[in-house]
Amino acid sequence: MLSTEQIIDTMAGQGLRITDQRRTLARLFAEAPGYLTAKDVYDYMGKKYSGLSFDTVYRNLRVMQELGVLEQIVFEDGVKFKSHCSQDRHHHHMICLQCEKTYPIAFCPMDMTDMPEQFEVVKHKFEVFGYCKDCRKEMGAGDGKEGPTLHLKQSHYDTHEHAGKSQ
Ligand SMILES: [Zn+2]
Ligand SMILES: [Zn+2]
Ligand SMILES: [Zn+2]
Repeated sequence: MLSTEQIIDTMAGQGLRITDQRRTLARLFAEAPGYLTAKDVYDYMGKKYSGLSFDTVYRNLRVMQELGVLEQIVFEDGVKFKSHCSQDRHHHHMICLQCEKTYPIAFCPMDMTDMPEQFEVVKHKFEVFGYCKDCRKEMGAGDGKEGPTLHLKQSHYDTHEHAGKSQ
């Protein structure tokens, strides 16, 4: 996870004006333990800056994501954001559905993907959802004989999006 200063430095380094709002956003994400929805961010920012519109908040989230300081994950209940992992290398995520702890994984399935002829890949996403060790332990507690595996549910998304722009 990037620190407040790393987020601000990256944004400034790419020419983004560092307003007080963006500074607050950087701190919010650097200190957030899990993922935040745009609504979470709007609720938080709205208390500090009266008259702030949801659109402005959302536009800032988009910009921060495009600059690589935020990562966006699509959960079953919607899109959420978190501070970008500290590692710069291309990576994917394994995410606990309970505590939303995120583990970067180096494995990338793109090399193994059958590509239709002349298909131009612009970007790809690969995320694995499940439950971490601690959450499994918690879920298994008080249910000694059956063990935690009965409560496990796993989703697996592999989507390819065409954003309509070249990068
Ligand atoms: Zn990451
Ligand atoms: Zn967990
Ligand atoms: Zn990949």
